[in-house]
Amino acid sequence: MALIVKKFGGSSVATTEKIMNVAKRVLSEKQPGDQIVMVVSAMGDTTDDLIKLAEGITKDPYQYTREMDMLLTTGEQVSISLLAMAFKTLGQPAISLTGPMAGMKTNSVHTKGRIVDITPQRVHEELDKGNIVVVAGFQGSDEFGDPVTLGRGGSDTSAVALAGALKADTCEIYTDVDGVYSADPRIVKDARKMKEITYYEMLEMARLGAGVMQPRSVEMGKFFNIPIHVRSTFTNKPGTIIREDYTMEDKDFVIRGVAHDEKVAKIAVLGIPNTPGIAHEIFSALADANIDVDMIVQSIRNIEKNVTDMVFTVATDDLG
Ligand code: ADP
Ligand code: ASP
Ligand code: MG
Repeated sequence: MALIVKKFGGSSVATTEKIMNVAKRVLSEKQPGDQIVMVVSAMGDTTDDLIKLAEGITKDPYQYTREMDMLLTTGEQVSISLLAMAFKTLGQPAISLTGPMAGMKTNSVHTKGRIVDITPQRVHEELDKGNIVVVAGFQGSDEFGDPVTLGRGGSDTSAVALAGALKADTCEIYTDVDGVYSADPRIVKDARKMKEITYYEMLEMARLGAGVMQPRSVEMGKFFNIPIHVRSTFTNKPGTIIREDYTMEDKDFVIRGVAHDEKVAKIAVLGIPNTPGIAHEIFSALADANIDVDMIVQSIRNIEKNVTDMVFTVATDDLG
């Protein structure tokens, strides 16, 4: 008997047929007595489509972050209800819960929320009644009860955090590739699949753009010390285990992987006075707006006039 959290990404639940297949697979692998919590993303490109819908109203919908969260949280609400129904049609008791119903408490940083606490009482109660519990990924609510999303790819973080809070035996991340590779396998055809990778290595790759796991989810895994199994929705092959240390001998590599990120914008602030405190002024304004800054280059433009250029990168989503 085990408590297992299984997360299925958008491409795994892109159609009703795929949702039925997910339900069938989960039931075929379920051992008697297993308690199963599913965390699901919105169907296919739903989140992107919702963003486009908002762009029909305004060029920069992210200026209205609370309303974006109200909009984006609907995507996951569709998939949880359909998946719970799929289980029921197969004779398996199941119930869908939104992030807030599952006890996901976040801060109030809309569209980039962070989980501050999880009180999964309701999840335990429903499991004890014999239900498979289907939880909406990517969402929680703040102290006012307002919906907050966890940033793109945030369902990974919902799943790992919930697994930690429930003291689950394992957390499985089902996706459209069969594990973590040394580079994006869709781009690099001879990339190597890794049997195991440490939290630290995965975090580094994820931060630099390996979109297979949201960086926060890897931090959560390390925090709760819960092994994460990244594997394919469409095959039964074993995937990649993200864990603290390797169990295999294969430790003697210099480079573990290569990551890339296409959603990076470079901003150059030109000809600013080269006085102490100027960098602090720029970067604290960005920090106040919850914008992460990546690479920073400062160069002297003109020694006589004592002016400098400050060049840095941010996510393209933050450009506006
Ligand atoms: P999901 O919808 O299941 O969350 P994502 O699209 O977020 O799926 O993540 C899976 C994708 O991550 C893969 O399709 C792959 O293109 C991409 N990816 C980027 N880097 C890697 C990597 N190093 N290993 C595996 N997949 C990667
Ligand atoms: N649906 C959200 C997104 O597309 C969350 C996720 O899929 O993890 O970013
Ligand atoms: Mg994802």
